[in-house]
Amino acid sequence: MSPSLFSLIEVSLPDDRTRIVLEAPDRTRGPREWSAERLLTAAAQFASLFAELGVVKGDRVALQVEKSPEALAIYLACLRGGFVFLPMNTAYRLDEVDYLVGNAEPALVICDPAAEEGMREIAARHATPHVLTLDTEAQGSLTEASRRVRNIVPPAQLAAHDLAAILYTSGTTGKPKGAMLSQGNLASNGLALRDAWRFTESDVLLHALPTFHAHGLFVACHCALLAGARMIWLGKFDRDLVLKHLPRATTFMGVPTFYTRLLAGDDFNAALVKHMRLFTSGSAPLLAETFEEFRARTGHAILERYGMTETGMNTSNPYDGERRAGTVGFPLPGTEVRVMSDDGRLLGAGEVGGLQVRGPNVFSGYWRMPEKSAEEFAEGGWFKTGDIAMIDADGYVHLVGRAKDLIISGGFNVYPKEIEELIDDMPEVLESAIVGVPHADFGEAGVAVVVLRPGRTLDEAELISRVKAKLANYKVPKRAFFVESLPRNTMGKVQKNLLRDEYRGACKS
Ligand code: AMP
Repeated sequence: MSPSLFSLIEVSLPDDRTRIVLEAPDRTRGPREWSAERLLTAAAQFASLFAELGVVKGDRVALQVEKSPEALAIYLACLRGGFVFLPMNTAYRLDEVDYLVGNAEPALVICDPAAEEGMREIAARHATPHVLTLDTEAQGSLTEASRRVRNIVPPAQLAAHDLAAILYTSGTTGKPKGAMLSQGNLASNGLALRDAWRFTESDVLLHALPTFHAHGLFVACHCALLAGARMIWLGKFDRDLVLKHLPRATTFMGVPTFYTRLLAGDDFNAALVKHMRLFTSGSAPLLAETFEEFRARTGHAILERYGMTETGMNTSNPYDGERRAGTVGFPLPGTEVRVMSDDGRLLGAGEVGGLQVRGPNVFSGYWRMPEKSAEEFAEGGWFKTGDIAMIDADGYVHLVGRAKDLIISGGFNVYPKEIEELIDDMPEVLESAIVGVPHADFGEAGVAVVVLRPGRTLDEAELISRVKAKLANYKVPKRAFFVESLPRNTMGKVQKNLLRDEYRGACKS
């Protein structure tokens, strides 16, 4: 039996020095500091409370809460107890949460106090046994209840194939799919990254990413926790707070938007980051211009890596050696990548095709979707990423495109189908298409191109506000245009490439 991720983390956090400093996002409360001991004690208490409620190994624990050390302790509690952690994006609206809860059937849902009423309605609809609120301060809260727990239960005995987490990713079908990640997937990838990026106990990671996504939760936290490093947690990316805390940090992880925002003012300069050891970027393409500007300004070459929810990290530019702009580097130790033609031929250096990956980091499939999962794998356990790539003669992987439809806005994936379905359901609308166009701040943003029914009217602001009421902000199209008809090819498919060209300039300023 291989050691569980929790036991690997536990042995990496041997003393009670401060490990997490949370800088409260509202800036009114002072920073809160958590030692390793406090984190592990809270994890044991939460796990024991959940067990007392009847949650057992394999049960899902869904959570939609703001970033906090308590939320991290709940994640560790799930790893400890063998409960399946299911984080939900804090921007999700009730309809989106309702779908996830219905699909995953958690034994327990945890939310912020302000969301309790809506969450209880959802839980009642799906017969979810328990709803708890995470109020980090109040009496009678989940935190307080966990401290009163009578019996601390021992960590579960877990094997590498045991399920550790389900992270939902939106699919081209419009409905999110739950990627099932095992203890072995998370542990192998965490250890590979810790070693590849040389994390040690002396590191301080400035953590400004959300913790409901694989980047902030797994990539960032596992590197720090498995090295016994400290973290400074910001509630979200706030340029002023990042500048304030960089002098105490050694490492920083970001999506490309973080870097363009940092570069936007002269107060981000070489003197501020002279002492830093590492900046990494991922989740969306880092423009070569950003890489070069960052290097010219600071002397640091941002280390770009590539991964996805289903696989964790697959490739990384080297720690030592040349970090090449516009590439995502080499496969991580233990992970294999290959580029295949549409007709299933292995392609050679310089040839462009579908990128496939294999390794202990690759998930086992989507929750309760065995057929869809099987379609995503080629023979021999190779996962078809949907990304279009080329491996150059030196072995660097270049991502040259992706399954056409996907829009990545500020590091978040937006799948047009989900938004198109919502717009098409509006009584005034005949049909619609969502395309990604360049956006000055988010890198890319969605634009809606809409055909109205004859004689009906609808304006841009109204359409956008109706979408806003139903979907997370990052999915909401930034602009909407009304047209007579959508361009289609002879097969009847909407030619999104033409729309992309036509609306290229729509979100530039
Ligand atoms: P997610 O599952 O949200 O992590 O999204 C995964 C997708 O993000 C991948 O399939 C890629 O299309 C994209 N992605 C991740 N890292 C990079 C990167 N460094 N450059 C370009 N695209 C990336």
